[in-house]
Amino acid sequence: MKISFLTQILIAFVLAIVLGAIVGPEIEAVSPLGDAFLRLIQFIIAPLILATLVVGVAGTGDMKKMGRLGGKTVAYYLATSAIAISLGLGMGFLFAPGEGVEIPPESIDDSAAQTEQPEGVVDTLLNIIPTNPFAGLVEGNILQIIFFAIFLGIGITAVGEKAKPVLRFFEGFSEVMFKITSFIILLAPIGVFGLVAPIVGDHGLSILLPLFKVILAVAVACIVHIAITYSIAVKTLGKLNPITFLKGIAPAGIFAFSSASSAGTLPITIKNVTENLGVSKGTSSFVLPLGATINMDGTAIYQGVAVLFIAQFYGMDLSLMQVLTVVLIATLASIGTAGVPGAGLIMLTLVLTSIGLPLEGIALVAGIDRILDMFRTSVNVIGDASGAVIVDRNEPLDEEEAKA
Ligand code: ASP
Repeated sequence: MKISFLTQILIAFVLAIVLGAIVGPEIEAVSPLGDAFLRLIQFIIAPLILATLVVGVAGTGDMKKMGRLGGKTVAYYLATSAIAISLGLGMGFLFAPGEGVEIPPESIDDSAAQTEQPEGVVDTLLNIIPTNPFAGLVEGNILQIIFFAIFLGIGITAVGEKAKPVLRFFEGFSEVMFKITSFIILLAPIGVFGLVAPIVGDHGLSILLPLFKVILAVAVACIVHIAITYSIAVKTLGKLNPITFLKGIAPAGIFAFSSASSAGTLPITIKNVTENLGVSKGTSSFVLPLGATINMDGTAIYQGVAVLFIAQFYGMDLSLMQVLTVVLIATLASIGTAGVPGAGLIMLTLVLTSIGLPLEGIALVAGIDRILDMFRTSVNVIGDASGAVIVDRNEPLDEEEAKA
């Protein structure tokens, strides 16, 4: 009998809760399983982002097309991602999932908070430019890697024919990285068990209510983002009835929900957008793959909620500067998130370290990550589609090309 992946995760989750509650703190013995899983997801991150982003940027093929559509597409995607992260933070404040959870002070890892003092916004921005991109790769500095990848992509496109082998290398490399990621995610049930059981063992069953609130906060924020942000955007900027839009993109949204992969959903997104929403092939073949690589509004929402949850859990009040840093870093992190299951969890490390929150906080959300992933991936895909509709309505590419 084949047990579906979601069922495996749920079994692992329930087993972890039951055993954690029965055994108590001694269940700590299984924590190496969780730690190994965390290390695995960290180890894939730098090469995964580099490869997918280079392909995403360079995949457009020609500079003219990239310049014409790129500005609008990127502006729209960045704006909606920033709204999404703010919405996530707002829901995190509203639902306050991590408040009132008692944790023993010794489990607060303040070493992270001490070593990763939040920098000023100017320094954070300046630090995005690597003085040595390979050092950025070695140190796993994600923003520098993103910076390097975008320039590589632009460079490959500008060079054209001669750079084709470089592009092909990155295409193959990104496929390999996707494969490795999918292997790692297969281990998630073991990882979830190893992460959740010690938490329940330490804190008891009272930890479950906050997790439920996290799911609720993410789900509500996702629904609000679709019902308000995208609806207004397609209506005003895309001159399309939001109901027509949602109906047209529903199959891709549902597939995204069950697969938790926006990259995997891409063929269905393209089909829905061209056949049901009347977007030209020219626009959708540029805007959608780019969106599937850099536009992750659902992931941004999730990061907002998760950061607040973890901060509340560890009893840390975020300063305004830290909140602004989260908005900036989470927007960039969502750009660097690959459209594969569990990638958002990986990128959460980046956001947490940027404001000095303990990385162990990831263990708290890892157990429910798959459920959150379903919601956020649907939003990711619907957001990509809204961008395609809007860019297409404002720039009828095919007609322009026909005239040219
Ligand atoms: N699974 C998401 C996607 O494919 C990414 C994430 O984990 O946030 O869009």
